[in-house]
Amino acid sequence: MTFKAPRGTKDIFGEDIFLWRKVEDILRNVCEKFRVFEIRTPVFEQTELFQRGVGETTDIVTKEMYTLEKKGSESVTLKPEGTAGAARAFVENSMYADPQPTKLYYITPAFRYERPQAGRQRQFHQFGVEIFGSYDASCDAEAISIAYEVLNQIGIKNIELKINSLGGNECRKKYNKTLKEFIGSNIERLCDDCKERFEKNPLRVLDCKNENCKKVIDDAPSVIESLDEECLAHFEALKKNLDNMGIPYIVDSKIVRGLDYYTRTVFEFVSNEIGSQGTVCGGGRYDNLIGECGGPKTGAVGFAMGLERIMMLVKSQGLIETKGKDVDIYIGSIGDEGFLKAQAVGFELRKSGICVEYDTLKRSVKAQLKYANKINAKFSVVIGENEIKTDCVNLKNMTESKQEEIKLSSLKEELFKRLGSASEN
Ligand code: ATP
Ligand code: MG
Repeated sequence: MTFKAPRGTKDIFGEDIFLWRKVEDILRNVCEKFRVFEIRTPVFEQTELFQRGVGETTDIVTKEMYTLEKKGSESVTLKPEGTAGAARAFVENSMYADPQPTKLYYITPAFRYERPQAGRQRQFHQFGVEIFGSYDASCDAEAISIAYEVLNQIGIKNIELKINSLGGNECRKKYNKTLKEFIGSNIERLCDDCKERFEKNPLRVLDCKNENCKKVIDDAPSVIESLDEECLAHFEALKKNLDNMGIPYIVDSKIVRGLDYYTRTVFEFVSNEIGSQGTVCGGGRYDNLIGECGGPKTGAVGFAMGLERIMMLVKSQGLIETKGKDVDIYIGSIGDEGFLKAQAVGFELRKSGICVEYDTLKRSVKAQLKYANKINAKFSVVIGENEIKTDCVNLKNMTESKQEEIKLSSLKEELFKRLGSASEN
């Protein structure tokens, strides 16, 4: 019997792990500089949290959720995104009682039942940031600056920041009306999904991926024209803040994002180098969500970055060298006694922080040394009965093909002496 990973999932291993960890290190380091702290929430939550938090009319809730077979009384769903869980945790753990803002980040798998294609999987990974406790546009700018700095530190080129404002509840109502009139007069040209969206949530039509619908949407009225004075001032302040930090952006009034909870600011970072799934990061302000989750009314803004899409760019733009850590020493062995000594010495060296490899396949000495070459060992020795008896081994510098006779009992000291200069090669 053989098994395959489920459709839309991928194993991450080998050199890729090296890339992922480098990127994760950058994410964590940047967050530290912005005083954003990690949160780890469960991989599954009550289904209702996503229905309310993400929104009943979103693609995620209507089509994409992995809701588990009921175990006990409550329905639970694998997280399709990270914001709802972070918001639930903020309320449940009374983080609103702490001095604000509360700045959280997560690196998490997310699950959506979608048609797998390049840049779209059923289990994928998100890096996300949520900032709770401020309504001010400077906080939106702070969130955007984190995403911007992360992309900058990774070294990603040719990426555009697009920003828009959906306004508050009143502006949304006003725009919905204008948009409904527009869509209503073009309804025959739209796909079936959009016809349904027109009834339930016309804003969703702007987010449709269908090419025909996109053409219709091009002529749709701009949401910015429906903004009231306050929302317009908020949007202007955001632009001023971004200008102030030297972060370039484009205003795109068609950006609405896939989730229902956004108010005022929405934004995306988009690349045109990874095919049609070019949005690597999406986010915005969601001032109603904490209240919706049973907490006190709290301003909030955040984003999520798709790490698979980031990795596609890291690879295609050749941003991170994949060379792994070299092995410091390969300890070859002859016979059982030689192996036991190699194992004991090797374990001691490993405890001292030296990267050691030795033979666990009972290969010939020749095969062992060939393997030592293959794994890029900096040094090698071979231990047999004779070496044990005389306490004397040949320490070979593999890069320079130079050998020196040293005492086996002082291998650690001799190695430490040489590793400083060898690691600079
Ligand atoms: P898209 O328009 O590509 O479907 P979305 O609006 O559903 O994206 P969000 O819910 O905002 O995306 O998620 C944030 C980010 O997570 C996206 O910008 C993208 O980079 C990534 N992402 C979303 N869905 C997937 C998926 N199925 N596979 C891989 N990455 C994804
Ligand atoms: Mg989607």
